[in-house]
Amino acid sequence: DRLLGAEADGEEQAIEAALRPKDLGEFVGQERVREQLDLVLRAARQRGATADHVLLSGAPGLGKTTLSMIIAAEMGAPIRITSGPAIQHAGDLAAILSSLTEGEVLFLDEIHRMSRPAEEMLYMAMEDFRVDVIVGKGPGATAIPLELPPFTLVGATTRAGLLPPPLRDRFGFTGHMEFYGAPELERVIHRSARLLDVEIDAEGAIEIAGRSRGTPRIANRLLRRVRDYAQVKADGVITQEIASRALAVYDVDGRGLDRLDRAVLTALLKLFGGGPVGLSTLAVAVGEERETVEEVAEPFLVREGLLARTPRGRVGTPAAWAHLGLTPPRGTGS
Ligand code: ADP
Repeated sequence: DRLLGAEADGEEQAIEAALRPKDLGEFVGQERVREQLDLVLRAARQRGATADHVLLSGAPGLGKTTLSMIIAAEMGAPIRITSGPAIQHAGDLAAILSSLTEGEVLFLDEIHRMSRPAEEMLYMAMEDFRVDVIVGKGPGATAIPLELPPFTLVGATTRAGLLPPPLRDRFGFTGHMEFYGAPELERVIHRSARLLDVEIDAEGAIEIAGRSRGTPRIANRLLRRVRDYAQVKADGVITQEIASRALAVYDVDGRGLDRLDRAVLTALLKLFGGGPVGLSTLAVAVGEERETVEEVAEPFLVREGLLARTPRGRVGTPAAWAHLGLTPPRGTGS
């Protein structure tokens, strides 16, 4: 529900489906991952084999689900989509695995959040294409081995380091997804504008890209909001001025900070002279939960070099003073 949040809710997923690139050629940016994946898939196709298991790591909204669909499309295979949290019991996973067809792609989002027994079942499935299904309970329980057709697991996680090594090691290929640079985001925006049938000029796209936090999902979302504004308040064409006015209405500043981000920075600089200040104190000052400040606002502020987490507390950087147009007090060193 946050305009600059990188997660998608159910309603947005349907809108996003229309904007997903369908093959590797259409997928913008991530040159390294694309090139490596292209080789993996081509080689598998030439051998007439099922592609190796693929692990994709990276922040939400960078295109992991999209890539998994592209992998299936490039292999001419169907895809099944599920997620770690949806698999509560090993039996849930067994049911999915045993219904896969040969060559099918299984996309497991948030694979690091799977339950332990399911994870162990997955080891064997990935390596030997086999699972042991436990039938019965207690002393009478027996394990019935079940052969699986060869399939390709595509696992997605925010950080590869969150996975236990035995699971990580069972992937033939790991692709690390990076945040996108401005030129790539501009390409994403122009491409989406075409699909949405909205007119946008180069400066309009630059304006939106600069506020999109390196994330295609956010770029697409801001584009839709700016489109609404252009339609209602102007002639429908997105220019730099329209984009900038629209995003001001939505409280997204020139660097992609929203009201919460700015409240945290403002408190840090104005109330605490740029810190260091403890997280709890800072959270109270902005009237938010500790977790909200730490998990929602801070990661982006840290990534942008506006806030630093130090052992003595949070510190505002010189860039933060500059961004808010404030002068640091003398003698703070910042
Ligand atoms: P993730 O699974 O990493 O959270 P998604 O694959 O769901 O991200 O992508 C979110 C949205 O961003 C989708 O609408 C998708 O079309 C778009 N998108 C992501 N990466 C790209 C890309 N490289 N090129 C074009 N659009 C992209």
